[in-house]
Amino acid sequence: MLKHITAFITCSAIVLGTIHAPAVAADAKFDPSNPFYAPSTLPFHAPPFDKIKDEDYQPAIEAGMAEQLSEIQAIADNPAAATFDNTMVAMEKAGQLFQRAMAAFRVVAGANTNPVLQKVRTEEAPKLAAHRDAIYLNAKLFARVASLYQQRATLKLDPESLRLLGVTYDMFVRSGANLSEADKTKLKKLNEEISTLSNAFSTKLLAATKDGAYLTTDKSALAGLSDAQIAAAAQAAQSRKQEGYVLPLQNTTQQPDLASLSVRATREALFEKSWDRTERSDANDTRDDIAHLAQLRARRAQLLGYPNHAAWKLGDQMAKTPEAALKFMDALVPGATAKAASEGKDIQDVIDAQKGGFTLQPWDWNFYSEQVRKAKYDLNDAEVKPYFELNNVLENGVFYAANQLYGITFKERRDIPVYHPDVRVFEVSDADGKPLALFYCDYFKRDNKNGGAWMDSFVEQSKLLGTLPVVYNVANLPKPTPGEPAFISFTDVTTMFHEFGHALNGMFANTEYPSLSGAATARDFVEFPSQFNEHWALYPAALAHYARHYKTGAPMPADLVAKIKKAENFNQGYKLTELVAAAELDMQWHTLAASAALQQPDAFEKQALAKMHLLLAAVPPRYRSSYFSHIWNSGYSAGYYAYLWSEMLDDDAYQWFEEHGGLTRANGDRFRQMVLSRGNTFGKDVCSLARQRPERRTDDEVPRLAGVRTLERGAGNGHAAVRWRAQT
Ligand SMILES: [Zn+2]
Repeated sequence: MLKHITAFITCSAIVLGTIHAPAVAADAKFDPSNPFYAPSTLPFHAPPFDKIKDEDYQPAIEAGMAEQLSEIQAIADNPAAATFDNTMVAMEKAGQLFQRAMAAFRVVAGANTNPVLQKVRTEEAPKLAAHRDAIYLNAKLFARVASLYQQRATLKLDPESLRLLGVTYDMFVRSGANLSEADKTKLKKLNEEISTLSNAFSTKLLAATKDGAYLTTDKSALAGLSDAQIAAAAQAAQSRKQEGYVLPLQNTTQQPDLASLSVRATREALFEKSWDRTERSDANDTRDDIAHLAQLRARRAQLLGYPNHAAWKLGDQMAKTPEAALKFMDALVPGATAKAASEGKDIQDVIDAQKGGFTLQPWDWNFYSEQVRKAKYDLNDAEVKPYFELNNVLENGVFYAANQLYGITFKERRDIPVYHPDVRVFEVSDADGKPLALFYCDYFKRDNKNGGAWMDSFVEQSKLLGTLPVVYNVANLPKPTPGEPAFISFTDVTTMFHEFGHALNGMFANTEYPSLSGAATARDFVEFPSQFNEHWALYPAALAHYARHYKTGAPMPADLVAKIKKAENFNQGYKLTELVAAAELDMQWHTLAASAALQQPDAFEKQALAKMHLLLAAVPPRYRSSYFSHIWNSGYSAGYYAYLWSEMLDDDAYQWFEEHGGLTRANGDRFRQMVLSRGNTFGKDVCSLARQRPERRTDDEVPRLAGVRTLERGAGNGHAAVRWRAQT
């Protein structure tokens, strides 16, 4: 998943700032010895994590807010008439201290947190919401932006500048700049409450996920797991100072270990731990928070003139309306559930043949589907994993594919400080040898890391600011016991390619303005580069290069490769159904009207799924409402459909590559130039590459075509409607 500037503040023209001018903190208490005080002197302005202490974040964030507000006020109070330069460009340059403090804070708060950082996060959440409002609800500032916007046709702006003006004006309006003073006051209060609740949800979920781990002292309960998995479970218990074995929870409903655990009671217990994680203790129960969040969001939308939160959120997205997104998803439901039902029948047949004497339940699905997979495709994970050692996948797979496509090269930088010993840093050079970016990766699961995988930036590329991108990927791949190689599944391989696709979007950014740079695109576009990059994981020349036995270096045997490819279409009915169910849930929560009663989440969820014909005994949603982090605290509210939506773009682009010679520099350079480098400068022509195809000419046609195409695919070859690639 991509976490843009959303941890506290949604995408904004204003949270970014220049690296050039020295920081002048408006708050006199801000100590010059604070490592954020001045711009980083490290290569690429990388954060000085060797100097940053937990106590440094809060004063830097607060001084950063104060500094940015005084800069913004100076722009608003400028007696000269508004010009593009004295208003738009000045805003782009403002807030540099705030940006560098927040960028570093986001990574530690999300990927390496502790009680001190959680306290800062809790205290700052409402202040950050208020800070954003102080900018977007500043009437004098908006008057300048609006006057420029009215004159835009005569300002002789270049296309990117014109785009910046349009995006910024739109952001002000959508943030409430046109409201009366009385309504602005109401809006500020709502934003503050939403921000506080969203942060409370996040804190509870992290604790609930940790507490929800399955614990046993009986090794026989873990029958079916490999020796390495059992050793990792013992290690996990040890690191928590507990007796026995611990299976930590992943953030999704289904847990990877359910595919291997042969004791049914263990499977059921682990599944229940996952399903009820946020409902077992009062301290970590999120249900009240999400019910209130949904209601507050609906009220805010009403205040801003929209029928519901989704209508407000989708106003600047490709889909444009919740109806379009819902129509797109509804069209997927019959094909997806029919396929899942037939997969379920295959599984029940296996259970019956083994005289199991029970009806398939969600905790049985992956265990028996693994058997069906072995029977149908003669493939099991244990056979594959020795060919997927993490570092090898990274350097000879992920990096290799990028090198072949774009000519870029990677060199590890052990001198750049990191926020945790598991983090690695690479300097990325362009094809001509010039420095391009820094790339950090933090792949292993930790109890103090949010679930899932994401990309974000420490520094955004900008020609205006003279900055090169510093980007990172975070994931939750299983950590091996010390000294052992990290074997990962093909799903994890795909996750690495996915997140690196986001990273490429950041690293190839080539825009003037930081707020249009890299991954600052529409939410339902942003998964295009990432899902597109997944295609290379199975591309023959790439796979041959990285899928090598960790001991012998022998390439993966051809028959095993063939099996993996064939099995790619396996279980896709289940995967698509659980994904659509989560996306539909998201949309149901966020199309509630402000007048709707406060919901009981469990009842609401059941009813919403039933309404969409997705209340299925054996196929629960990929996330339950009460632990659906994407929609309550990471910027995907009314936006989870984006994964499905972007799929039609990436499939289309990949097809174009296949028709034009595949993994070549010429194709890669074209994609880089037309898509990856352009950030949010596209305007309406949201997908340049898709313009190759006349039927992709307008945004409006996209949902209709995708629905038809994906269903045709599903009906035609018996495979799942959409080849979904495991990603959060
Ligand atoms: Zn993603």
